[in-house]
Amino acid sequence: MIRFESLQKVWPDGTRAISDVSLDIPRGQFCVILGPSGAGKSTLLRAVNGLMQPTAGRVLIDGTEFNTSTQKQLRQRVAMIHQHFNLTNRMSVASNVLAGLLPAVSTVRALSGWFKPAHRQKACQLLDRVGLSPAHLRRRAGDLSGGQQQRVGIARAFMLDPEVVLADEPVASLDPKISRDILTLIRDAARERNATVLCSLHQIDLAREFGDRIVGMRDGSVVFDGTPAEFTDERVHALYRGAHWEDTPAGEEAEALVHEPQWVAA
Ligand code: ADP
Repeated sequence: MIRFESLQKVWPDGTRAISDVSLDIPRGQFCVILGPSGAGKSTLLRAVNGLMQPTAGRVLIDGTEFNTSTQKQLRQRVAMIHQHFNLTNRMSVASNVLAGLLPAVSTVRALSGWFKPAHRQKACQLLDRVGLSPAHLRRRAGDLSGGQQQRVGIARAFMLDPEVVLADEPVASLDPKISRDILTLIRDAARERNATVLCSLHQIDLAREFGDRIVGMRDGSVVFDGTPAEFTDERVHALYRGAHWEDTPAGEEAEALVHEPQWVAA
């Protein structure tokens, strides 16, 4: 389980990115963090793997807090999938997937490029699982399409069979059909391992389709927390217009707001 306890983040320039967020995310849940740009989604995710140091509060993974003595162990249990894929473009697809082992292998071995046959086999299996053929193994990662690069990013993230997968806007730069394929792969690979997924998105339709739970954020605060069925058009309105969700328009007015184009582009 991931526990956010009264988490706060104020950046040195005074920007309040997270204001007192407390959440419990149970094991195996696909939890979508939804909200407009600047809501604090990325900052929240990065608190889980220690890439962001909170100003106050803490994050616990199965009761363990991220600090210098636990970071090596926790980094093996928490993987990340990035918006811009974060592959090493000049390296092969195979090398990029094997890089998913880096939190668990020695620096010497990583630099030598020598990986156990079992690890190479696992990389091949994962690439097959995400729909890439053996022909892709030796290709430069930078030569692949965006959708293919994100498939490599998913294979890399699952190399250590993580308990937690952080996906930071993983489909922001992909078209709608490929976005669905990518989110399906993340969801199914996580389910096979009972891994917890924290996935930030700004697309309402995808959040409703893939989330077991939707946490809506605005200006660093949680303004909605519930199931997709509870995330009615009125509550979408509350999230994107800053209204309180119990005091929002109903019926046709809410419907019109939800289908305004800027909602999807936020
Ligand atoms: P989201 O992922 O929802 O778009 P972010 O978590 O990236 O939002 O950002 C939340 C707020 O924190 C924004 O106002 C953003 O400009 C600010 N922010 C993010 N990173 C930094 C940083 N390194 N320094 C200062 N402000 C930052």
